[in-house]
Amino acid sequence: MLLCGGARKPRSLNVEHMDAEGVMFAVDYLTAATRAVLGGTVSEASAAGKHVIVVGGGDTGNDCVGTALRQECVSVTQLEMMPAPPEDRTPGNPWPEWPRILKVDYGQEEAIWKFGADPRIYQTTVKEFVKDKRGNLKEAVLISLSAQKDPNTGRLSMVPVEGSERTVPAQLVLIAAGFLGSERYVTESFGVETDGRTNVKTAPGGYASSRAKIYTAGDMHRGQSLVVWAITEGRAAARAVDLDLMGYTNL
Ligand SMILES: Cc1cc2nc3c(=O)[nH]c(=O)nc-3n(C[C@H](O)[C@H](O)[C@H](O)COP(=O)(O)OP(=O)(O)OC[C@H]3O[C@@H](n4cnc5c(N)ncnc54)[C@H](O)[C@@H]3O)c2cc1C
Repeated sequence: MLLCGGARKPRSLNVEHMDAEGVMFAVDYLTAATRAVLGGTVSEASAAGKHVIVVGGGDTGNDCVGTALRQECVSVTQLEMMPAPPEDRTPGNPWPEWPRILKVDYGQEEAIWKFGADPRIYQTTVKEFVKDKRGNLKEAVLISLSAQKDPNTGRLSMVPVEGSERTVPAQLVLIAAGFLGSERYVTESFGVETDGRTNVKTAPGGYASSRAKIYTAGDMHRGQSLVVWAITEGRAAARAVDLDLMGYTNL
């Protein structure tokens, strides 16, 4: 048995009226959009004619911005809770380290081209959603955040700025606030050990789980990653299984 169910459990928001019709997780939206394109139909969760808010400033959020634009949304706003990164490297982030600077991905580029401004608003999140009488999403209440250092631990956290609330129209909200790992019911059903991030645990570089004859590969093994890693891990896991079953392998 090879467990390779991905790591797509989405991080949710702890705000009122999450159940409003029109609030959905990014991957559900992107999957519906892709299915509609492949099937030549209109997506059941189309952004056409809607004010769209994307919660999360990462790659998945960027894909949502691009998709909403192509579906002809009226407006798209992308919320990021952290401060905007600098435009150039800081002294603490020299070459050849990965540059922690402001990047403009294709979704944001297309939004700038269409609406004339970067869709991202930093240090901002959703405080609550507002529904109409029929339970449809009508508006979102946004709130600014400021960075505060915990005097005991020194850790920075983003805290709401009281009085900074403002209400904006929204008929579609896409939550792209990160992933929490694999679905726990799967790992629990198979009784395999997981690591602190709910990935299936193996020896370093290995593919065998804590239970005999159960293996793992891809995002479910290493957490949210890349297609190239999923392919590499799939091949390496097949080799590990073959070796265990046959005692040798030509893979
Ligand atoms: C929005 C988004 C954009 C991305 N863009 C890129 C990109 O541009 N380039 C890139 O390299 N990577 C990208 N990634 C990451 C990439 O998609 C993953 O790293 C890769 O797909 C992992 O492959 P996988 O086979 O391990 O898991 P997945 O591709 O997640 O496949 C897991 C499969 O298992 C199924 N499944 C789950 N649970 C069960 C169950 N209980 N029973 C049966 N089936 C189940 C799922 O439906 C799914 O089909 C992106 C990811 C996301 C979310």
